[in-house]
Amino acid sequence: LQPQADYSLRHHNSFGFDVRAEYFVCTQGTEQLRDAVQWARDHDCALHVLGDGSNTVFSSDVDGLVLKIGARQIDSEKLSAQAYRVIADAGVNWHALVEHCLATEQYGLENLAMIPGSAGAAPIQNIGAYGIELAQLLDSVEIFDTTSGQCRQLNAAQCQFSYRHSIFKTRAARNWIVTRIHLNLSAADKPCFHYAALQQSLQAANIQNPASKDVFDHVCKIRSSKLPDPKVLGNAGSFFKNPIVSAEKMAQLLARYPQIAHYPEAEGRAKIAAGWLIEQAGWKGYRRDAVGVHDNQALVLVNYGGGTGQQIATLANDIRVSIREKFDVELEQEPVLVPADNSPACTMR
Ligand SMILES: Cc1cc2nc3c(=O)[nH]c(=O)nc-3n(C[C@H](O)[C@H](O)[C@H](O)COP(=O)(O)OP(=O)(O)OC[C@H]3O[C@@H](n4cnc5c(N)ncnc54)[C@H](O)[C@@H]3O)c2cc1C
Repeated sequence: LQPQADYSLRHHNSFGFDVRAEYFVCTQGTEQLRDAVQWARDHDCALHVLGDGSNTVFSSDVDGLVLKIGARQIDSEKLSAQAYRVIADAGVNWHALVEHCLATEQYGLENLAMIPGSAGAAPIQNIGAYGIELAQLLDSVEIFDTTSGQCRQLNAAQCQFSYRHSIFKTRAARNWIVTRIHLNLSAADKPCFHYAALQQSLQAANIQNPASKDVFDHVCKIRSSKLPDPKVLGNAGSFFKNPIVSAEKMAQLLARYPQIAHYPEAEGRAKIAAGWLIEQAGWKGYRRDAVGVHDNQALVLVNYGGGTGQQIATLANDIRVSIREKFDVELEQEPVLVPADNSPACTMR
């Protein structure tokens, strides 16, 4: 195993930032993964695990070894007349997995179509879209612990999933590499289509009883019309999480901003549309240097070409401060900043 030195990550991040990894390796299988981890240890290198870089902001060159998992096997087991277990290697492209499952009549992933990235990264932030989160379909996650050199399997409860969060984003998991994910899918073609925008799209097409394929098609259609394609305009999708506030805070906000876009959460709390806040604060379409806020999607920060992760991080911070000042609401960044300014997790990897 010989990692490549001074390797460009330009095609390994959806912002298209032209940063370099001190060393880069793409592994196939557990033995190569073990070798790569040992190589980093022997060379006293920090290790950073990278999927497809669609939730990553590279703010500068990356010291140490950037490790990408290349293994792309998909296995499937029929558990009963109605239930499948699908097992995907971390390197499998997420959308390709959704397409594969639909084509083989293993249902459940349709709403998560066209989310960029790898299967291995899907549990990290518990990806979600159009009324479904990964947590609802996940059976377990296989990990490789770089400290012990052991493989382990975590069930869904152990993954501690919540909105765009899991144990994999905490210190407890800083030495874990996801190697495979196990999903519970169904043989029954009974899609979930309660999400308002999805329902409207299906109704507009006169589809009363959609099949999973209809849901897949309409999710793809809506996403293509709403979100910029990273191949054309660098971005990382939603840049901020939708903040969740207390019932009391929501009441205060509603008194001042009756139009505020929000959704009910457990225990009277509410989830506010971060895009609405950013748009109201006047950022939509804002451009500074080669980066900016998308013309139609206030939640999406973009690289017009030649921008840097530092510029994006500075712009994101200015947006965060302005939302705090105007609404007294804290925005939390969704993509991971690499190298992290304050997280020890990055250097451990
Ligand atoms: C246009 C666009 C639309 C998007 N829409 C959505 C959406 O609708 N819903 C949603 O939830 N997300 C969305 N995202 C965000 C992104 O697609 C997901 O977060 C995706 O899961 C990231 O996968 P990745 O392989 O690119 O992760 P990367 O950016 O490579 O990595 C993200 C984090 O996971 C870690 N990681 C990656 N692989 C592993 C592994 N095998 N083991 C341990 N750690 C690992 C990395 O170290 C990093 O901390 C969107 C992004 C874009 C660009």
